[in-house]
Order: sequence, then C-alpha cells, then structure tokens
Amino acid sequence: AAVVVAIDGPSGTGKSSTSKAVAAQLGLSYLDTGAQYRAMTWWMITNGIDVTDAAAVATAAAKPVLVSGTDPAHPTITVDGADASGPIRTQEVTSRVSAVSAVPEVRTLVTELQRSIAAAAERGIVVEGRDIGTTVLPDADLKIFLTASPEARAARRSGELTGKDAAGLAATREALIKRDAADSGRKTSPLAKAGDAVEVDTTELTLQQVIECVVTLVEE
Ligand code: C5P
Repeated sequence: AAVVVAIDGPSGTGKSSTSKAVAAQLGLSYLDTGAQYRAMTWWMITNGIDVTDAAAVATAAAKPVLVSGTDPAHPTITVDGADASGPIRTQEVTSRVSAVSAVPEVRTLVTELQRSIAAAAERGIVVEGRDIGTTVLPDADLKIFLTASPEARAARRSGELTGKDAAGLAATREALIKRDAADSGRKTSPLAKAGDAVEVDTTELTLQQVIECVVTLVEE
C-alpha cells in the first residue's frame, strides 16, 4: 500500500532537505506545499494584486494553474505553464507569502490540489508544509513535526542565502520569526503540531541524523 508521510514545522528546521532525502531513499514522491503558496503569491504580485487585500486575493485565487512535479531528485513548479522555481525564492515573495496563505479561499484551493496529488502517488508520498498532519492529510501513516532553536534556524537560512554577516543573520532571524508568528497566528489551518505527530528537535542534529531518524520511523 502507498505510504503517506506528513512533515510539518517552521522554516529553517531542515524540512525540505529532510523530506526530499527521505522520499528519494524510500522511492516515494515528494510535494513541497510551501512552493505552491509561494507560486500563488508570485502570480498575485506579477498580476498586480495587492496581497494585503484579502478580498482581492480570494477573488483571484482560482485563476492561476499550479502544477507540481513530484520527483524528489528534481522537484518542479509551474504557474500557467511557466517555470516558477526561481522567482518563488525571492525576498519579495518570501515577505508576502504569509498574507496570501492566510486567505481561506487560497487554502481551500491549494489543499484540494495537495490531496489530489497525494492520492495520485502510487507508491506513496512525503508531503512537507505547515498544516499537512492537522488539515491536509489527517490520516497520514506518519506525521513528523520538526523544530529547532531560532538561532539554529536563522543560521541555516542565512547559510542558504548570500550574506553571512552578523547584520544579515539578525535580519534573517527577525524575518523568520515574523513569518512564523503570522503562520502560527492565522485563523485557518495555522502552523501546528498534530496530536499524533512525532516531534524531532533538529537543533543539535546533522541533516543526515534527521534523515535517518525519519526513515527509521517510516520503516517501523
Ligand atoms: O516552507 P516555505 O517556507 O516555503 O513556506 C512558505 C509559506 O507558505 C509559509 O511561510 C506559509 O505562509 C505558507 N505555507 C502554508 N501552509 C503550508 C506550507 C506553507 O501556509 N502547508
């Protein structure tokens, strides 16, 4: 039978790297749900929609066609057929995505898309996000909730970016805390640990250790 693994947690916990590696090792599909919310945000920005206007975002939400490629070795995302993998990682999108993802109409559409992708994965899938274990796939076979100290998360995030100076680190830390607060505080499907999720604190662990831990849990 298909194995469904939900991996949730805030940013900078190693969620994407862990999810991709676990999926690749176990021969499962992979879905980055954050990339879908980012792609929706990118579309809103390029189409001149004010992302702070929830009614405007709700009205436009059904227009973009989002397609996710689920190979963990080469995950892709397109919006209306255009490759969005580069533009969705910009600071502009990162700073606006929480506003877009908080709109209930956006969440309903994206959640339906996520469920259909998971249902189509014949061997199973690793789905990473914020509300996968609680809302999108409450019947997942395994739910993981990754955490890490704010310092560790900011260090990992800025390591992925260009500027590794102290000022860059402080700014990354502030932006990350602000985004987590918005994601945790929204009314619809906030970032939350499911009651039956296994919490893994990655602060003191290497990526390899986290991957091994999750693979072991799937195989149990
Ligand atoms: O994981 P990533 O940092 O790419 O997620 C970007 C944003 O997408 C999050 O800050 C959050 O606002 C939103 N998101 C969400 N629900 C998910 C995944 C991501 O609301 N399942």
